[in-house]
Amino acid sequence: MSSSETTTAPASTTTKHDGTVRLDHVVHRYGRGSANVTAVGPVDLTVPVGEFLVLVGPSGCGKSTLLRLIAGFERPTHGAVRVSGAEPRPGTAAGVVFQTPRLFPWRTVGGNIDLALRYAGVDRAHRPERRARLLARVGLEGTEKRRTWEISGGQQQRVAIARALAAENPLLLLDEPFAALDALTRERLQEDVRRVAAQTGRTTVFVTHSADEAVFLGSRIVVLTKGPGTVALDLPIDLPRGDVDAEELRESREFAELRARVSHEVKAAAAHGHRPGEPTDASMQGIEERTSQS
Ligand code: ADP
Repeated sequence: MSSSETTTAPASTTTKHDGTVRLDHVVHRYGRGSANVTAVGPVDLTVPVGEFLVLVGPSGCGKSTLLRLIAGFERPTHGAVRVSGAEPRPGTAAGVVFQTPRLFPWRTVGGNIDLALRYAGVDRAHRPERRARLLARVGLEGTEKRRTWEISGGQQQRVAIARALAAENPLLLLDEPFAALDALTRERLQEDVRRVAAQTGRTTVFVTHSADEAVFLGSRIVVLTKGPGTVALDLPIDLPRGDVDAEELRESREFAELRARVSHEVKAAAAHGHRPGEPTDASMQGIEERTSQS
């Protein structure tokens, strides 16, 4: 059964503003004539309400392009992208977090959040309370008056996440948001994002090239082939969510097995441009292990 068959939501669930994502035979090309580059596709994918989908794959396979298509920053060359059943409009389709925080340096931490709240239509009287709640959610209580250059890179990225949450958009898109951070800060922020996603129930699409990050965060992982990326593997992640001990989870056998499998799949996809339905050595190994255990 293909990935789209297993996860396609009924038409009725994609008509309200619920953050569902649907990609139908999406192909995207950049440039024209001899400079034409096919960046991604064809891709069929449906992301139902509340899912935490991680897109993982080798550099240049088209992960960022897919995210940009879902955000409405690009329109596909072929096929259709739908968010909540409609063509996505930039700025309103989703909250977006990029690799770098992109904060306004002339505004304080609180000022950056206030601007997002203003764009989200929150009236001035309600902004302080909403701002405090958003900053608390990302562990930045009491930093409203700080200048953005006075806080660390990890804290700046936390502000960017709070800002993306400000609009209360049901869809959150994150493009390798922790790539530039040190390992310890990255782990802390992964824990924050995992917790926030579980608390808010938002549909999330997260791009990374790290198998470790993908397994820790995702309720589902899609591995893309090398560019132009197509779906090589569509894997539900059945690790406990919600209020869990992150360290215990990272040290569990299930986590290690999944990480090894995803890592093998990414390497296979990068080397051979692995196609859907074609078993890799790593996936066969996982199947054999499960069969011998049962
Ligand atoms: P990934 O996020 O997986 O690293 P990208 O989506 O950034 O991949 O890029 C996919 C392909 O599209 C690459 O070959 C890249 O060079 C090309 N590409 C990305 N953005 C542009 C652009 N604005 N113009 C031309 N080519 C682009």
